[in-house]
Amino acid sequence: MSSNCIFCQIIAGIAPAEILYRDDRAVAFRDIRPAAPVHILVVPIRHIVSVNELDPKDESLVGHLFSIACQVAGQAGIGQTGYRCIINTGPDSGQAVFHLHLHVIGGRRMQTLTGA
Ligand code: 5GP
Ligand code: ZN
Repeated sequence: MSSNCIFCQIIAGIAPAEILYRDDRAVAFRDIRPAAPVHILVVPIRHIVSVNELDPKDESLVGHLFSIACQVAGQAGIGQTGYRCIINTGPDSGQAVFHLHLHVIGGRRMQTLTGA
C-alpha cells in the first residue's frame, strides 16, 4: 500500500467509495466524478503506478481486470448496450491517479475517438 494514494486508501477502507466488487486481487468502485451514467473503476489491490510498471508476471492480473470489467458492466446493465474500457497512462493521457485503474464507461452513446 502507498499511504498517500487515494485508491490504496479506498482499498484499505480508509477512504469511502461505493464498492461493487472485491476479491483478493482487485476491487471495483464507482467513479466519484462520472463521465457517463455508468462509470466504474476496476483497480488492482497491489499499488501499480501505471501500465508502464506492469511486469510480464502481471499478464493474468491484467486479464482478470478485464473479466471484472465485463462482470460489473453486465451487472450495471450496459453489457449489451456497450461500454468503453479505458486505461490512461502518463501525462498526455490525462492520468491523474497513479494507481493503475481500468475505467468502465457506458450508459450513453459515445463520440468516436476523433470526435468525428
Ligand atoms: P485518471 O484520469 O487517472 O485515468 O482517472 C482517475 C479517476 O479517478 C477520475 O475519473 C476521477 O474522477 C476518479 N477519482 C479521483 N479521486 C477519486 C476518489 O476519491 N474516489 C473515487 N471513487 N474516484 C476518484
Ligand atoms: Zn495505490
